[in-house]
Order: sequence, then C-alpha cells, then structure tokens
Amino acid sequence: MKPYVLKKRRKRPTLVTTLLRNYVISFILMLFVLISSCSIAILIAMLYFDILPKYNIYPNEIMVDDYTKIDSSEIESVNGFILILDKDFNILYKRGNSVINGDKLNAKDLNTMIYNSEDGVIEINPKENTPLSNFTFKTRYNSDKDFLLVVAIPKNVNTNFSLKHTRLSRKQFLIISVAICLLILTIIFILYARITSRYFIKPLQILTEGANKLAKGNYSTRIGMRTRNEFGELSDALNIMAQKIEEERKLKEKSEKARRRLILDISHDLKNPLASIMGYSDYLIKNEELSKDDLYKYLKIIESNSIRANSLIQDLFEFSKLESVDFKLNKENQDICEFLRELIASYIPMLEEKQFNYDFLIPDHSIKVNFDSKHLDRALSNIILNSIKYNKNGASLNISLDIIDNFIEICIQDDGIGIEQSKVETIFDPFVREDEARNSQSGGTGLGLAITKTIIEKHNGTITLESKKNEGCKFTIFLPL
Ligand code: ADP
Repeated sequence: MKPYVLKKRRKRPTLVTTLLRNYVISFILMLFVLISSCSIAILIAMLYFDILPKYNIYPNEIMVDDYTKIDSSEIESVNGFILILDKDFNILYKRGNSVINGDKLNAKDLNTMIYNSEDGVIEINPKENTPLSNFTFKTRYNSDKDFLLVVAIPKNVNTNFSLKHTRLSRKQFLIISVAICLLILTIIFILYARITSRYFIKPLQILTEGANKLAKGNYSTRIGMRTRNEFGELSDALNIMAQKIEEERKLKEKSEKARRRLILDISHDLKNPLASIMGYSDYLIKNEELSKDDLYKYLKIIESNSIRANSLIQDLFEFSKLESVDFKLNKENQDICEFLRELIASYIPMLEEKQFNYDFLIPDHSIKVNFDSKHLDRALSNIILNSIKYNKNGASLNISLDIIDNFIEICIQDDGIGIEQSKVETIFDPFVREDEARNSQSGGTGLGLAITKTIIEKHNGTITLESKKNEGCKFTIFLPL
C-alpha cells in the first residue's frame, strides 16, 4: 500500500469564496436574463409591429357592445375621430374631430372612406379633395349589436393602424415574453444547480462514500478528492486518519505475531534443557548403583543444561526489561574512547587464547559522549564475544572508533565464517540464529544481538551488519555525539 502523500494544495478557494463566486455568477446571469428578455421583447415588437409606432390604434381592440363606452381617447389625441353607423349608414354616434356634417353618410363620403381605407381594394379615385381625404379609415362591424365602427386617423400621424392577422395582441405578447423569460430562467437554474452540485453535492457524496467504507473497517480506502477547498482538506484528514489506523493495525498484527513467535521460541528453547535435566535426574534417582565416573558424567550434563536454561531465562529477563515502557538508561557524559579501550582490554586474554589477530584503532584523545556504560558494555560485548565464540582459532578482529559528522562510528569486524545473506536482515530479531545445531552446542540463546540492537536504539543510535557466508561480519554502530 502506497503511503498517502499530502499533496501541496495550491492557493485554495474556500467555500466562502466559492459561494461568493457562485452568487456573483448567478447575479450576472440574472442580469443577462433581464437584458436578453428585454432585447427579445424589443425584437418581437420590432418584428411584429414593424417598428414601434408612436400610437397603436386598432378598432378591434377598442370595440365594445355599448358604443358610447368606446375608448377613443387615443384617437382623439391625434386629432382623429370615430363614427358609429347603422345598416343604412345613419351616423348613430360620433366622437372626436369629426369632419362630417349631418347625421348620414352620403355616397361621396363613403367613396372617400373606402379609397382611404387601409385594406381598401376598391380603387375609386375621388377627383376632388374633401376633408375626409386627409384621414385613413378602418372599420369594424359589431354583429351582435348590428353597428359599424369607423375609426379615422389623420394621415400625417405615425400610427400602426393595422388589423393584420399576424399581429400579436398585448396579452399574447406578454405570454410569449413571460414564457421566453421562464425558459431562459429554467436553463440558468439548471446550469446553476449543476455548478452548485459540482462544488458541494459531489464532494459531499464522495466524502460520505469514503467515510462509510472507513466505518466498515476498510482502511485501505483512500478518498480521491480533486477540489482544493475545505472538502479537499477534510478528505486529506480522513485519508491520513485511515493510513494511520491501517499502519497501527499492521503494527499490532506484527507485534502480535512477534509475541506469539517469542512464546513459541521460549517454550521450545526451554523445553530441551529442562527435559534433559528431568530425564537425567530421574535416571540418577532410579539407578543408585552407578559408578562414580557415570555419576559425574550425568551430573555434568544436568549442570550444562541448567546453565543453558538459566542463561536463556536471564537473557529473556534482560530483553523484556529493555523492552518495557518504563525502562530508562542511566546515561552519563563520559569518554567513550577510554570506555572502549577498557572493554577491549578485558577480552584480550580470550583473544590470545584463541590466537586471534586483533587490531584496534581508537583515538588517543578523549571524546565525551552521553551513554550508559553498563548497557553499552553489554551491547558491544555481545558482538565481540560472538566473534570469538563463532569463529575458528586464528581469525582476526578489528575494532575502530571514528567521528563522522555528528556521530560516533564504532566498527567491529572479523574475517570468520560470516552469516548467510538471507539471515542478515533478521539476525537482530530475538531467537534468530545462523545454525540451530551449532548454536545448541555453543549455548547461544539467539537473544544477544536483539539485546544489543535494543540498547543501541535506546541511545538513539543505529546498528547495521554487513556479512556474507565465509566472508566475516562487519557490525557498524552510530551513536549521536
Ligand atoms: P546467540 O546467543 O545465539 O549468540 P545472537 O543474537 O548473539 O545469539 O547471535 C545470533 C546468531 O548470529 C548467532 O547464533 C550466530 O549464528 C550468528 N552470529 C553472530 N555473530 C556472529 C559472528 N561474528 N560470526 C558468525 N556468526 C555470528
């Protein structure tokens, strides 16, 4: 599982800025709706009304059954007039600037009116100019009340005096305008909803989905959020939390495994010497007639197995003490060169006995370091004793101390049998040994290097091993100055 790397987020737009931006966008869109609907309205007006006229006078719009109530104010304002005629062309009613005298239309008047009618088809050219020739006429017949409405508008007035079939009534125009506005508004709201959903609903859905998976214990889940606002931060926090829980769980599993293995190893390592002690002591109890030599031989076996069991228990005790949470080193500021010289000196008799070639490179001047001499002695002794214990007579051992940057480097190197490369990684784990058979003879517990590593790490240092089979071992320790 790849560790979740917290991506460096660019300057993030917060939810507040996102909301503000959305509001500004919607405000601009609304403005656009207003402007566009006005433009459309003007366009329709221009298309259907030719050009917006000063006066819109339509006889069919002003027509009412009671002709005395006909609204002729607009017509009168442009010096026009209305006439109401019965079927015999008697003038029943007139209003406005009527240029007709008398109460009946004569043939001449009628002819002028037909000629000057907007929809006129009868071309009877009146030879003489009458007052009526200066007007444009439009008529509307009221079939219910059986009268004819005549609207007369002076020709010099710019009017839209039409009854074309395509013309929209004010009501229709209003309905169409409202419908177009509603359509544009709907489109804008759909767009706005989509934008809002992209910024708020989608991230929330992704977060909820991820959180649900985490709640089900699927800690390998990572929430893929591309937004760089608070949702992105929340998803980062959830991802880090999931990663930490996952790591903790793995660590717990690992330590549980190690604990089980440790118990198994301890019981296995204790079982052999104890079984041997029990077996031989039982044999001695049951056979009183044994010779002195045999008795000595069996007692020697019991003794060596007791020593083995005892050293195992002591190492275990020491190891668990080091591992316990309240363990503390007793550090003192002291000369590490002097300490190492004294430590090596104590092993010279053993090295001489095994005819080892040894060489030590330790600076003459003092280097003051904070360390626990008792525990560091134990750590380094394990390595030196292992070199003496596991290698044949005549092998060589080199120990050096150096300062590298802010660290003390201690190298302990031999040219002996070495360790299989596959074991180098795990050799510092408890109960790991190179060769089980050989170790039971040498009496090793497999805890020495585990104790060494724990002590070095408690000093905030590190220990590494470089080794190959038959090419010796090189332990390198770094301790902070
Ligand atoms: P033990 O108590 O068995 O010595 P250690 O943890 O000290 O336990 O060592 C682990 C194993 O590493 C040993 O059993 C031995 O096989 C191997 N080992 C350690 N040091 C050396 C060395 N200098 N040369 C060869 N093998 C070594």
